[in-house]
Amino acid sequence: MFQMDKLLRDNIRQLVPYSSARDEFKGEAHVFLDANENSLGSPLTRWYNRYPDPLQWKLKEALSRVKGIAPQHIFLGNGSDECIDILYRAFCIPGKDNVIINPPTYGMYEVSAHINDIEVRRARLLDDFQLDLVHLENLVDENTKIIWICSPNNPTANSMNRQDVEIILNNFNGLVVIDEAYINFSRHRSFIQELPDYPNLVVMQTMSKAWGLAGLRLGMAFASEAIIDVYNKVKPPYNISQATQELALQALEETEQVNDMIRALVNMREQLHQQLAVLSVVKKIYPSDANFLLVKVADARAVYHYLLDKGIVVRDRSKVELCEGCLRITVGTEPENRELLEALARYPGA
Ligand SMILES: *Cc1c(COP(=O)(O)O)cnc(C)c1O
Repeated sequence: MFQMDKLLRDNIRQLVPYSSARDEFKGEAHVFLDANENSLGSPLTRWYNRYPDPLQWKLKEALSRVKGIAPQHIFLGNGSDECIDILYRAFCIPGKDNVIINPPTYGMYEVSAHINDIEVRRARLLDDFQLDLVHLENLVDENTKIIWICSPNNPTANSMNRQDVEIILNNFNGLVVIDEAYINFSRHRSFIQELPDYPNLVVMQTMSKAWGLAGLRLGMAFASEAIIDVYNKVKPPYNISQATQELALQALEETEQVNDMIRALVNMREQLHQQLAVLSVVKKIYPSDANFLLVKVADARAVYHYLLDKGIVVRDRSKVELCEGCLRITVGTEPENRELLEALARYPGA
């Protein structure tokens, strides 16, 4: 059985969190002399001389309408990076606990583990890039706190089989984190709606991809109230700036424009896939549920440098397990995709 309180580190269970001026006074007032802000204002606008809402309620209410989940099930982080790091700091004891990743996958799960001195166990994906449940189960011991699942996965671009994920959710007594950074480009359903069934589930999303706001740094975690309370206890008090809160709110009013971009990017992905497939330098293109393609080419390192020489930078994944000979190519604008295709068509070895 999953018991969140038992999973938590002792120091976090006992932690008395920082109490900010904004936490201690929440009523009506018109003279604010409680937070040592600059009462005269700032060179920008008067808004920014005040500390922001530590729990970002207005933004969470807007998000709640878009995502169909109550605000108290939402945590907002300074990028997904912060959503990842806090789970390590709250649940994993350095030098003792371990987590499981399914490589090839997103690099931050491992980097953040190493920063926190947490052991990383690797259940490599199967040849079809699906989860290896047998290997996963063998790696779990009493110190395994988190299983990281990235779906759609970076860099392989596929979604994990839903049944496999459900088997893990039903059988693992630690946290199961599903990173859905690319979910908006996928045909598959988010796991957000399954949260009531799984107290051990954390779903991560981000404003960096489909929403086009990588520069804002806004990551989201959706989970039980108990887990969100832990997040809020451990996070820096003002982790999301006033500017970010305002701009994200503004963006959330433009869901139609974002949906248009998503549709366009998915169409362009399919078109790019077809156009790449006929080039002789291209050996294989994997199906994608994201806004990028994993492409196997004749000599990945050489093609990478050839493109770079033409001012086109893609991601060389050829040294990554199961991705031998592969480049990861983000779907660009129409002219960018055309430039890429023309360059590849003229590749000397091809
Ligand atoms: C891009 C990406 C993210 C986003 O990270 P941010 O810190 O929110 O920009 C998260 N997970 C995966 C797998 C990604 O590829």
